[in-house]
Amino acid sequence: MKSILPLFVFVDACGWEIIKDDPFVTGLAPYRRRLRSVFGYSSACIPSILSGRMPVEHRNWCYFVHDPKHSPFRPLRWLRWLPSALTGRRRVRRWLSKYVKMRLKFRGYFDLYNMPFRDINQYDFSEKKSPLQPGGMNCGTNIFDHLTEHGIPYHVSEPARGEQGNLEALLQDIAAEKIDFAFLYWPDLDGLLHRVGNQSPEIFLKLRAYEKDLNRLMAISRGHYTDVRLYIFSDHGMANCDRRLDLRSRILSLNLKPGNDYAVVYDSTMARFWFFNENARQKIVDYLKNVPQGKIMTDEELENLGTLFPDRYFGELIFLVSEGVLIVPSHMGERPIRAMHGYHPDAPHSYAALMANRDTVPADITAIPDIYKLMVAEAGEAHAHNRAQPQQTTTFPEATAALRRPAVPAKA
Ligand SMILES: [Zn+2]
Repeated sequence: MKSILPLFVFVDACGWEIIKDDPFVTGLAPYRRRLRSVFGYSSACIPSILSGRMPVEHRNWCYFVHDPKHSPFRPLRWLRWLPSALTGRRRVRRWLSKYVKMRLKFRGYFDLYNMPFRDINQYDFSEKKSPLQPGGMNCGTNIFDHLTEHGIPYHVSEPARGEQGNLEALLQDIAAEKIDFAFLYWPDLDGLLHRVGNQSPEIFLKLRAYEKDLNRLMAISRGHYTDVRLYIFSDHGMANCDRRLDLRSRILSLNLKPGNDYAVVYDSTMARFWFFNENARQKIVDYLKNVPQGKIMTDEELENLGTLFPDRYFGELIFLVSEGVLIVPSHMGERPIRAMHGYHPDAPHSYAALMANRDTVPADITAIPDIYKLMVAEAGEAHAHNRAQPQQTTTFPEATAALRRPAVPAKA
């Protein structure tokens, strides 16, 4: 039996608006609060949680950037000759993404999304390493570097194992009493919300399924650690998309030549432009100023959000749409999806949530990068206590039985 186990359970997209009127884990983790998110997608939010820093500091923001010099995608250009009816298919794209990830030895999350093969060699992918591993940040360190440096034994999920696989792997480490810190990664709610929206009964059911798993996790943990400190948290929420904006067609109608005059990445909620001449810049800026569904982000706003990059690596101009608007088609998808995130952090559905089983969460934990401080403090305390205590192995029949119980199949 060990003393303390800090359990950090990350539920992607389990935003404040999703849980505020739902009894989600109110029994297990009754102390809840709203957290401000970080401007960007999970590609920005997760690294901010894991490092305690803003995108401008860790330089993990949006996936694709215009950077022909460093593009690893040249070998994919021949795919432009294949019919788009084939290469545009989601299933084909998923298979190709897996293949490319393996060939290019990318360690993090990788998806080709809807990037056109015609000019994919003009772009680079900014997350080649996994932020869930030591050395996984583009700049600086993360919690796993910190734990490694201080010799604190920990468990972290591997996304490829899936939610249930990761739960089982964590339970094994807990039963072996070999860790002083755990980070469990559950991404499936995000995918479900994108598909069915934030009002679907499927969301309610998914939250109930999570509770069942969390109850089991806590029961087993309490059989091996006297004080289990549970923190369940998210990176952002999810807004239903009821309005669509075909920005690509509108920008194409300006009679500028993409590739020669400008480059652009259409994310689902923002468009990021690079300009190759003043005429193109002027035309596009003038046009975007009159698009009522969104606005050009000023340098001041970007700076306040920790996303003003002095080298404009992620784009010289950032156009952001209002909550509920979906840019479609985009480089993220050809077809609409029901819900999206990546709006302004002050939009109601952007807010994340933190739920804890202790009322000791400091008042200055107000935004998702603050979770890092909490993780560092808890891991340090657990390690000190667990080290000070003589090791002994105890068998708890109830906990052992729960561990043997078959896993509940994951809901896609
Ligand atoms: Zn998402």
